[in-house]
Amino acid sequence: MEKPANVQSSVETLMKAYAVQCFCEPVVAIERGDHQPLGSEVVVEVMRCGICHTDLHLQDGYYDLGGGKRANLVDRGIRPPVIMGHEVLGRLVAKGPNAAIDDSAIGKTFLVYPWLGCGECEVCQAGKENLCAKPRYIGVARAGGYAEQCVVPDPKYLVDVTGIEPALAATYACSGLTAYSALRKVTIDKQDDLLVLMGLGGVGLSGLQIALALGYRRIAVADIDADKREFALKCGASLTLDPRDGDALSVLADAGGAAAVVDFVGNSATATFAIASLRKGGTCIVVGLFGGDITLSLPPLVQRAITLQGSFVGNLDELKELIELAKSGVIDPLPIETVAFDEVNAALERLRAGHVKGRLVLAR
Ligand SMILES: [Zn+2]
Ligand SMILES: [Zn+2]
Repeated sequence: MEKPANVQSSVETLMKAYAVQCFCEPVVAIERGDHQPLGSEVVVEVMRCGICHTDLHLQDGYYDLGGGKRANLVDRGIRPPVIMGHEVLGRLVAKGPNAAIDDSAIGKTFLVYPWLGCGECEVCQAGKENLCAKPRYIGVARAGGYAEQCVVPDPKYLVDVTGIEPALAATYACSGLTAYSALRKVTIDKQDDLLVLMGLGGVGLSGLQIALALGYRRIAVADIDADKREFALKCGASLTLDPRDGDALSVLADAGGAAAVVDFVGNSATATFAIASLRKGGTCIVVGLFGGDITLSLPPLVQRAITLQGSFVGNLDELKELIELAKSGVIDPLPIETVAFDEVNAALERLRAGHVKGRLVLAR
């Protein structure tokens, strides 16, 4: 966890935040002293903050590993109070004495790249901070955007999103980036090969829109929700199916089999289906963190020459690429509903119930 702000202005001003104080309980409003940025730090006044499915795991305090096993967040050093929120868009309001950003940027709005590593190891130096062994993710391991202000360790993590609708821009930091990074790992013929996307939650829907923008022409979408399937067809999917239908796999096989599948759900049923849908030589990329486990027979892994890969969020360069793509106007916007910050608990419960199309974004 982030250490409490250790420097407060002599005239005490307080910043409101919404924090998980006890796992498995609603978030509560707390107050913290305004943070005076030190060193290279910058402070943004949070204008928009997306609500992500990951936040539900943070609220619960664990991930389900399947087979009755759990990955507890306290074992990873994540303890309440947790100020969640990693899709942060805000106005730059303060900078530390060593922050390498021009004074003229004060007052401008930026998207925050949240997937910070230690910044020093080889992985971080190679620009893959999201894969650092010592993560300090904003809204996970350090205070995030469910607050009036958010401290960012360095201005290099601020991305210019001029021209993109603010709530939509916020979602690119996680749901968009996660989808984009997963799709960058797909290496199939965009014209002829079948790409299967599983699960049309916020990330999956982003995935569909980004895949269309990237030029994939044969996209099948699998979701158990008929409304979401219908919406996928309207967006431009060429085929939709309910993975629970007995003939769903044969429908995909008749379409040539999946050259690549991106599983945006990541539970036992979806991953099992995704792997079964692959044609020989196909790749399954698991992105969702719903939780569970699978049993994988090894001889077919070899004989079918399939690849099973995980993909976790994305790196800073990928976010910048995605923002450029979005600025060029080729990505259809994700449906977004904005809600007030003090309605965060109701919003989290709606997401938990699965009744959200697109993304809920806190706004002020
Ligand atoms: Zn997220
Ligand atoms: Zn590192």
